[in-house]
Amino acid sequence: MSDLVIRNIGTIATGDVRAPIAAADTVVVRDGVIASVGGDEDAGDISVVIDAAGATVMPGLCDDHTHPVLGDFTPRQLQLDWIDSCLHGGVTTMLSAGEPHLPGRPTDPAGVKALAILAHRSFAILRPSGVKVHAGAVLLEEGLTEADFAEMAKAGVRLVGEIGISGVKDPDTAAQMARWAQANGMRVMVHTGGASIPGSGIIGADFVVAVRPDVAAHTNGGPTALSLADVERILDETDARIEVVHNGNVKAAGDVAALVASRDELHRLVIGTDSPAGSGVQPLGMLRTMSFVAALGGVAPELAVAAASGNVAALHGLNTGIVEPGREADLLVVDAPLGSQAADALGALAIGDTPAVASAIIDGKPRFTKSRNTPPAVRPIAFPSSTS
Ligand SMILES: [Zn+2]
Repeated sequence: MSDLVIRNIGTIATGDVRAPIAAADTVVVRDGVIASVGGDEDAGDISVVIDAAGATVMPGLCDDHTHPVLGDFTPRQLQLDWIDSCLHGGVTTMLSAGEPHLPGRPTDPAGVKALAILAHRSFAILRPSGVKVHAGAVLLEEGLTEADFAEMAKAGVRLVGEIGISGVKDPDTAAQMARWAQANGMRVMVHTGGASIPGSGIIGADFVVAVRPDVAAHTNGGPTALSLADVERILDETDARIEVVHNGNVKAAGDVAALVASRDELHRLVIGTDSPAGSGVQPLGMLRTMSFVAALGGVAPELAVAAASGNVAALHGLNTGIVEPGREADLLVVDAPLGSQAADALGALAIGDTPAVASAIIDGKPRFTKSRNTPPAVRPIAFPSSTS
């Protein structure tokens, strides 16, 4: 595991929705874990030093909504290395919302159970380009029993993929299975809005209120948005997190974020991409959705960062997503992109620009020192020669 020091940080956006900015200019990593945030620790023994030159540090982004299958390949868009490409957009953790794109996806209870366990186990071993992919999100089919959920949980499955895109359409059946899943420690997601692919239906607040999931998926559309009145009902009548995604309605992303902010409930806002999808693979989808939330929704950019990192980690019980001692050292060095009217990364988000990702660090190890997908940073960030 890696030791690392990042010095001369201009701003730390912590990812913690309750304390989104840290007054510190140094982060020290030991054994892949954040050891200190601030300049007080003696780190003279650590040879890997990044001079941020006044740039911004934020947590590696946690994409709350992806559709992986197996390996770094998507059958949806016949694309290789899409996970690596998202790393270059700042994503260090991905959560599966189901593996519906598996060619020949089984739709019987034994088959969906097997697929969830296989996808979970496979990505627990394989980390494409270091990205932490939490997959194996069971898609509900008629006939699954309480014992099936217990068996999946015992095998490590922690996610129920989007309810509504598979065989279970009846709210009572969906609610029963959601209770079994939650009793076994799983997080449950419900698809909302219009149909995403032929075979999926239109799902509004009535269904979400009946099922009581942990996440109301893509409330700004996947791709077609719920009414704002439906989102308000979900906020009022459930405890579900409110997700906005890149693969949705851009205006609704801002409207939903503004609604959640106006209720002082930004701890419930989570960001994802829903990629791969009909709209493609979106390597910069997290950063762009953060810019929609900030620039169109009027949400402070550091709180948009939290919705894309710490809030998602809290939802799933992950020890990443916040810049604080004890967390896995999944970090980004980001800045205003060359040519931006903004002075720094948070300013860029606030005006709707996509920040430059100078480096994505996973478990204390810089995975690259120049994103191939964002513009370059304005500031002359200096990396140790061994990592560049
Ligand atoms: Zn969906």
